[in-house]
Order: sequence, then structure tokens, then C-alpha cells
Amino acid sequence: MRSSDLFSVPGRRGLENLLRVSAVAGVTLALAYCASIVFVGRPPGGYDTLWDGWLYHVATTIPAVLAAVKAIADRRSRPAWWLVSAGIALNTVANLIYTYHDQNIVPIPFPAWSDLAYLSSYLCFAVALVMITQRQTGEVSKAVRLDGLVIGLSAGAIAVALWFESILGQTGSTFAVITGLAYPLFDVVFIVIVVSGLAPARFRPTWSAGAFMIGTVAFAIGDTVYLNQVAAGVYVPSTILECTWVVGLLLFGLAAWAPAGLRATHAPEFSSGAATLPAAAATAALAVVASGLSGGVPLLASWLAIAAIAGALLRVILTVRELRRANIAFGQARTDELTGILNRRGFYEELDQRLAREDSEMSVLVIDLDGFKEINDSLGHQAGDYLLQVLGERFSVTVPTGSLVARLGGDEFGLALHGGRDVAERTVAALHAALDRTVTLEDIPVRVGASIGVAQAPLHGTTRSELLRAADVAMYAAKTGQLGTSWYSIEQDPNSRDRLALIEELRIAIEQRSFEMHYQPTIDVRSGSVVGMEALIRWNHPTRGVLQPDDFIPLAERVGLIPAITRSVLELSIAHLGAVRRSGQELRLSVNISAKDLVDDSLPGYIRSVLDANGVPANLLTLEITETALSSDEVRAERTLNALRAEGIRISIDDFGVGYSSMSQLLKLPLDELKIDRSFIANLEGDLRAQAILSATVELGRTLGLDIVAEGIETVASLDEITRRGVDTAQGFYFSKALPSSTFGQFVADHSESQLISPEDSTSSPTPSPNQADASFAATTVSRQ
Ligand code: C2E
Ligand code: CA
Ligand code: CA
Repeated sequence: MRSSDLFSVPGRRGLENLLRVSAVAGVTLALAYCASIVFVGRPPGGYDTLWDGWLYHVATTIPAVLAAVKAIADRRSRPAWWLVSAGIALNTVANLIYTYHDQNIVPIPFPAWSDLAYLSSYLCFAVALVMITQRQTGEVSKAVRLDGLVIGLSAGAIAVALWFESILGQTGSTFAVITGLAYPLFDVVFIVIVVSGLAPARFRPTWSAGAFMIGTVAFAIGDTVYLNQVAAGVYVPSTILECTWVVGLLLFGLAAWAPAGLRATHAPEFSSGAATLPAAAATAALAVVASGLSGGVPLLASWLAIAAIAGALLRVILTVRELRRANIAFGQARTDELTGILNRRGFYEELDQRLAREDSEMSVLVIDLDGFKEINDSLGHQAGDYLLQVLGERFSVTVPTGSLVARLGGDEFGLALHGGRDVAERTVAALHAALDRTVTLEDIPVRVGASIGVAQAPLHGTTRSELLRAADVAMYAAKTGQLGTSWYSIEQDPNSRDRLALIEELRIAIEQRSFEMHYQPTIDVRSGSVVGMEALIRWNHPTRGVLQPDDFIPLAERVGLIPAITRSVLELSIAHLGAVRRSGQELRLSVNISAKDLVDDSLPGYIRSVLDANGVPANLLTLEITETALSSDEVRAERTLNALRAEGIRISIDDFGVGYSSMSQLLKLPLDELKIDRSFIANLEGDLRAQAILSATVELGRTLGLDIVAEGIETVASLDEITRRGVDTAQGFYFSKALPSSTFGQFVADHSESQLISPEDSTSSPTPSPNQADASFAATTVSRQ
């Protein structure tokens, strides 16, 4: 939590004020104390009373308040800050004891109880620092902490080597020496903890960590100078030296309130820089051990150095293990288990990287084995697996060094080579040669062929997906043409080829009239009877089965085949309507037309003639046009619509609501009907927007005198909804899907007497005949109140 966030929490005002007061007081007192030392100094005879050093005690205790307030305020790192606070308080206790000794015992004992308190406070700091760095910068790995240990131990070894003898000479007791050395050692530990704790943040300190770091450096200076003076026997209390601890403690307190957030957090990274410090420390430890061999340093120093070296070795082991684990995980995810070469994912990643890195020429190859399935089937999967392994290996040694070889799955391999077409050509020849050599499977020498597709960068694409797709297309061409190898070219692209083929087939279909019309009934919402049908085209494709309009109408629109299709549709469906009428049913017919139809001036006359030929009155025909189609060429559209209207043909706006017809357009155009798009009907329940659009459309229709049709009625709930809102006509799977002409007649016959919606009594509901059971959802189940 940032301190500023904290302050914005109501109820924290008290804390905030307390904090400000103590920070200001702390800084003032610290400065005052430092000044007092410089200008006044301690009386040469030492303090007279316990209160003589009060300024110092207060100055060094205030940071404890800062840390304590932080502990109260910040729940997440509470224990750590309590520890800091306790450490500072312990330090004050130690100071008091020391002052007491200063006044009453000459010489001041060393080590004394004050040292116990001091060292305990250092211990608190050490633990707290670990907790805080862990919290502020993220998980610090074991290895990084171990680095800290190595540095600490090495520093200890050096310190012991340097000072042990002299302090021993001064104080005469090993215990005293160890106590004395403990201080600077702790300081080293502090620094190491703070610095190593910054590893996840790439050693960018936060303000808080910075305060800790400078604080510990102040401590380190104070403690080292102190130790040196003790060793030399020249230490006098209350000199400028004292300021180092005051400043250090104050910085600890301020660290509690300094911003701890890093601007950006990065994943931990192995940086060689981070390893230099422990390496240097281990080297220094080695030097200590070496001089220990000649008896130049105390035994303790040697042992500390040996411990440091052991730590460094452990660190190496840890690193190796971490690296291996990371490597294995990284490799496994990218390696094909069977063949040991790259898998699809690895190939994609590598190829992406190379394409991003270099813009030199490159070839991507896709190799698909011929007849692999037969080998698998006849010789078994093991043989198949073995074959893949052998080939993976052969491909790997055949390609130029630095190429990528991957198994993309099944019996498909992917290769990427640097260089132009000549390199690719040589490699392809070598690959075929490699394939030509037999592989012995179950004692049978087997030769397996392959189809190789080649795409070149940047000629055929610059991205991985473009190149792989192109190589795939080429491979497919090689396979179907039994060419062995095929180089990608636009002409062989299945998509463009498919497209051309489909257009050609569509032309033939138009000529041969191989379309079939399906009819979806439209229902009068009030009477429940069938009042009309919408003609929906289906194409009985010679090889692909029945194609839905979405599969070919957009294509036909693009290539200008729509007018011909529309005429087919009109002929078929108007003929059907004529037949329906002759059977005694009076129904309306709706036919969809496209934008292109509206620029055809001969359309109205043509329709007239078809209607006449079938004896159908023009007012039974409704043409459905989408809003989008209307807006493409407004002037001509309006003219054609007027001409159609003049013939007595009705005009409907299809998919109303999803396009963008303007109000002025609607008013200007000769219209009879609005057909609300089914997307609004599907979402009626619970969608206020859809409901509003429905209501508004009904209202608009009323005002303009238009019929309102709702399509896509699938549930009784949506039927209820549209009925309530005043829709006239409904269409949808709830009543029936689009039916072939043969069944449509039956459907209408079945529902001519009975009604699809029975207002009062459900026994009058129609019962669908068995062959329509799936087509008609009409509703024995419909019952409306
Ligand atoms: P459309 O004009 O909106 O036709 C209604 C479409 O919605 C039909 O799909 C129909 O089967 C489907 N449908 C009907 N009731 C429901 C229902 O309750 N729920 C759902 N989810 N769908 C329902 P189809 O036959 O696949 O036609 C798709 C589109 O193709 C048509 O949309 C129309 O724009 C176009 N189309 C169809 N036939 C022709 C045609 O002869 N000429 C032209 N130019 N376009 C046509
Ligand atoms: Ca339609
Ligand atoms: Ca529609």
C-alpha cells in the first residue's frame, strides 16, 4: 500500500498526524543531537546521570514510533514492522544500559549486557529485512538468498582475519572478540539482505529499500569504525561517530513510510552482473583460506571462509538444478516426444523469431509422407513410429546447418531453411534422396515417398502463417498431382481454384435450373393460420451435397450471377405459388432479391410475365430487400421499386434493424412491409434494447401503414412477446423451418382448417403428420391465455 493511499482512508487522520509529528521530531532531534556532539560534546568524565544522554535516547527512539505506526496501519507487513520497531526499542534499551555503565563502571565493560541488547536488536532488523524485501519486491529465490549468505560469510572471514588478533590483544577474551565482530558482520548481512532482496526487481531499489540500504551503510560505517577504535583501544563515547547510528535508525524508521512500490515489476531474470558479487566474495574467502594455510589468520576466519565457499558451491548446485529444470520444461514443451526434433509449437516459435529477426531469404517446406497410413496399418504403430524417428533423423542431417526441422504432427514435417531458391532446390533433392534410402521395418526394407511443398519468404509471404499456408497448398498440389515436390504458385491455391470451380458450377446450375426452393410458412399472429411463405433457395450441388444460400449467394453477388439466380427463384417459386393456388390455398409469396436486382430495369416486366404465365395476381408477391441493398444506389433502387410497385408487387424491408436505412429514406420509398431482423427476436426476453426496437418498429409500421413481420420466432415466449407488441405476421422454427415444396403443401393442408395458434382451447391445435414431426414445431404445445 502506498502511503498516500493510506492517508486517503478516513479514520487514519490520527495516525497520519502522529506520523508527521514523529518524523519531524525525529529529524529535528537527530540533527540537534549531531550538532550537540559537534559543538558541545560529552563531558570528558562521562555522563553524570542517566538523563544526560536524553537527547540521544529520544532521537534514537522516535524511529520506533514510525515503524510501530506503520505496523498498525499496514496489515500485510505488520510482523515485519513490529520487528523493526522492537529492534529500535531494544537499541534504546541497550543505549540506556550503556549510559548506565558509562556513569558507574570504569572502564566500561565489554562485552556487556548492553551488547546482548544491541545484538538482539540487530537480529530483529535482520529478520525484518528479510520479510520486508520478500514482501516489497517479490519472492526471492533460495539461490539469491544463498548469495547473500556467501557474501556475509566471506565478509565475516575477512573481518575476523583483519581484526581478531588486535581486538584479542585489547580485550584478552575470545568472547569479546566475537561480540565485537558480530556488529560489522550483522551490517554486512543487512546490506546483503537488502541488495539480494532486490534481485526480482532487477536491483532497482524502491525509496523504502533505498532508505534501508543507506541506513545499513550508516550502521556499517559506525560499527566498523567503532570496532577499529575498540581494537586500537582509542574508543571514546559520544563523538561524531555516534551520529551514524542515529542516522541509521532514523532511516529505518523513515523506510517504513517511504514509497515501496516499484514502477514496473519484471519477472526475475538471470543477470550475470548479479552473480559477480558472490563470485568476488567466494574468491576473497578462498584467499582467506589460503592465508590460513600459512597460519596467517585466526582459525575462526578460515572456518568462516570455508563455510562461505561451501555456500558458494551449494549455490552452484542450486543454479545448475534450476537451469536444468527450466531447460527441461522449456525443451519438453517444444520437442516432439517421438522423434526428438521440434514439435509444432517449437517450430512456430523458432520460425516466428527468425522471421522477426532476419529479413533474408528463407524457404519453408512442408513434407507429408505418402502411404504412411498403409505402413501403420500393415506393420503396426511401432513400425510407423520407428519410421518417423528414422526420417526425422535423416531430415535433420540432410538440411543445411542452422535449419529448422520439426514434426508438425502425424506424418507431416516442417522445415525452414535460410537462403534462396537454389539452396531450397538442393535441399529438396537431398531430402528426396534421403527418402529413397530404404528403412528396415520388421525385417522388411521399406521405401516411403513424400510430397514436399515449398514456399519462399518474402516472395510468398513474410509471416509464419502465410508461409506455412503456402507451403501446405504446394504440398497438397504435389500430393494430388503426384509430383514429389511442388513450389507454391498462386494458380494452384485451392481457395482461388475452388472459387473458380464454384463459379463455373454455379453457371451450370443456373443453366440447368438445379436449384431447389424451400418454403417457410408465415403465420398470421391473430388467427394463427398460414398466410404465406418465404422462398429460400437451396442448391443441390453435384459433389458437395445441398448448399445453403450463405454458401453461394454472396459469391454470386460478387461475380454478377445474382440476376440470373433471382430469375430462377422467381420462376420456380411463382410456379409453386400457382400450384398452391390451384389446390385451393390463397397464400402470399415472399422472394428475396439483392442489390444487383434493383439496377435491372427489365426486372418488373419480367416478373409481370412470370406472374401472368402462372395466373398469379401481383399483390400476392412480396419482394424482400435488405436495408443495405437499398442504400447502395438509392436513386435507381427507388426507381425500380416504384416500377415494381406499379405492377402491384409488394415491397418488404428484410432484416430490418440491422442495416442503416434513414427515416427519410423509409418515408420516400414505396414500401408495404417491415420484417424485423431475427436478432432482435432471439434476444427479446430480458433485452430492453431489443424490446424497444420491436415496439418502435411496430409503431413506425403503424404510422406508415406497413405490415410488420417478425422472423426467427423459436419459442412460445417470443411469440407471446411479439403478439403483445402488435406484430401482424410471424415466421420461424417455432412454426416450421423451410420445407421442400412437396412437404410444404402437406403442411398447409394440415393446418388449413385448424389453426397454428389456438386462442382458447388447445384441442383444436393441429397435429403434425409423422413426416413433418421434425419440421413442424406447430404446436400442439401452443396454448396462450
Ligand atoms: P433471410 O431472408 O433472413 O431468410 C431467413 C433465414 O432464416 C433462412 O435461412 C431461414 O431458414 C432462417 N430461419 C427461419 N426461421 C428461423 C428461426 O426461427 N430461427 C433461425 N435461427 N433461423 C430461421 P436460409 O434459408 O439459410 O437463408 C439465409 C439467407 O440467404 C436469407 O436470409 C436470405 O438473405 C438469403 N437467401 C435465401 N434465399 C435467397 C434467394 O432466393 N435469393 C436471394 N437473393 N437471397 C436468398
Ligand atoms: Ca428474407
Ligand atoms: Ca430476414
